[in-house]
Amino acid sequence: MDELLTPLTQGSRRALSRAITLIESTRADHRERAVALLASLPDGHALRIGMSGTPGVGKSTFIETFGTMLTEQGLKVAVLAVDPSSTRSGGSILGDKTRMETLSRNPKAFIRPSPSRAELGGVARRTREAIRLCEAAGFDLILIETVGVGQSETLVAEMADLFVLLLAPAGGDELQGVKRGIMEMADIILVNKADGDLLPTARRTVADYAGALRLLRKRPQDPDGFPKALPVSAVAGTGLQEAWDDMQALTAWRREYGHFEATRARQAQHWFLAEVRTGLLARLETPEARDRLEQLGRDVAAGDTVPGAAAKQMLDWLKT
Ligand code: GDP
Repeated sequence: MDELLTPLTQGSRRALSRAITLIESTRADHRERAVALLASLPDGHALRIGMSGTPGVGKSTFIETFGTMLTEQGLKVAVLAVDPSSTRSGGSILGDKTRMETLSRNPKAFIRPSPSRAELGGVARRTREAIRLCEAAGFDLILIETVGVGQSETLVAEMADLFVLLLAPAGGDELQGVKRGIMEMADIILVNKADGDLLPTARRTVADYAGALRLLRKRPQDPDGFPKALPVSAVAGTGLQEAWDDMQALTAWRREYGHFEATRARQAQHWFLAEVRTGLLARLETPEARDRLEQLGRDVAAGDTVPGAAAKQMLDWLKT
């Protein structure tokens, strides 16, 4: 049994941090230990909430206020980040503790930034595994934060029970250029900064999005009234309880009608296939495999063999 298992399941944050560091490691012996540890984890009961929004929309502020509110209600809250931009900057931006100062000092909360210099696929696996670890450590709510860049939303939606889109108040009817695909993933749209001078604009934005959501195809996993749009203010703290009530109501409905478990089962299947694919591709990345690919590629180019035959040779070689 792994020495981290007992302290982890007793809720030790130190053990949780160390376990996440372990799953982030690419060293072969670490990976083996990580896989064994993950397989031995007891089931958790956490609700996984994915949250996306472009930089500046107020994600950190929202998570700080929302997370604090939930801890005050007795819940343990973990915050994980999927940050594709960290590949570029070489360091994490999201989940940066200085951006969630109060929450990071809260004993009922745990914040872990995105690992730097990792590919999106690697970040996805690490985040899923970190979710499992946080659940085993007794967290009730896992917030998975991402910026609205590239495919990170799709990844996060594939690991969350609920997907929340955070938007800013915007004038006009251009719906802020939110891509239809992202709208279709959202369970709840929160229009943030619904305070002060921005309040009327925020209300209008909520109405615009509520209208747009009604035009989308009805999904089987939605009760009447969902997906929905709501105004919130992360700074003033308004609308947060209502948003939480809706998240809970939606979850309860999905549990009752079997959608909750069905979605998780489908997600597990998705990630299983993704891991098999990643594993297969990794086998093409070894020095020997690359040499062989190059050699066979040259043979094909020279006309010594045909692509199909060379591919079969390569695949046969991988099997051995
Ligand atoms: P993030 O990049 O999405 O994490 O956004 P931040 O949480 O860093 O917030 C970006 C800016 O918006 C900051 O200046 C915040 O103070 C401001 N902000 C965030 N939430 C609210 C809000 O509810 N109302 C107002 N008026 N400003 C907000």
